[in-house]
Amino acid sequence: MIKLSKTSKLDGILSWSLQALETCPASKNKDGSLVDACKGCYATTGNYNFPNVKAPRIHNREDWKRDDWISDMVKALDSSRYFRWFDSGDMYDLSLANKILAVMQLTPWVKHWMPTRMHKFIKFQHTIDAMQELPNVVVRFSSDSVDGKTIPGLTTSTIFSDSLPTGAVECKAYQHDGKCNGCRACYDKSVSVIAYKAHGVKMGKVIKILAVKG
Ligand code: SF4
Repeated sequence: MIKLSKTSKLDGILSWSLQALETCPASKNKDGSLVDACKGCYATTGNYNFPNVKAPRIHNREDWKRDDWISDMVKALDSSRYFRWFDSGDMYDLSLANKILAVMQLTPWVKHWMPTRMHKFIKFQHTIDAMQELPNVVVRFSSDSVDGKTIPGLTTSTIFSDSLPTGAVECKAYQHDGKCNGCRACYDKSVSVIAYKAHGVKMGKVIKILAVKG
């Protein structure tokens, strides 16, 4: 059964998610430590620890393997105009990535936003390229940085603590009680870089530690 999430942050736009970190192989450095951006991950705190929030994410990790998953996802998106992949988690498995690509191809009426770090793995390149070629899909490569460094890619995102990176569009959700409030910049291919201001207690600690290290 398809289990989508509806968060108030996204103005009620539906999302399909997995558990953070355990489905995020690109969240780790070569030595096994978390990259800076993932040390402050919002999806490992607060509401994300509630059983009713964890349950669909745990369910989805097995559910996508069903033969009918693609057609069931297409049906589930019948009345959606926008869709967010991975409010938490990442497309950790190439078979999952290819199934998501099929859903994107079969739902041209939906604008899909897919944040990911899986571009770090060369075997995902072909699938990600095919997603990016679709007019209704924005794959945003997430930077590991928390000080505004951006990465090459058609559409990307980064976290910043002080000054807004040059050319980036700033996410203003923090000015609207954490909600998108009608903004759809993340779903817009013409917006190259989205910059999220570092926020939250966990991320604040990461920024402080990095500042001490210099
Ligand atoms: S940039 Fe706009 S669409 Fe993206 S998360 Fe922020 S408010 Fe929402």
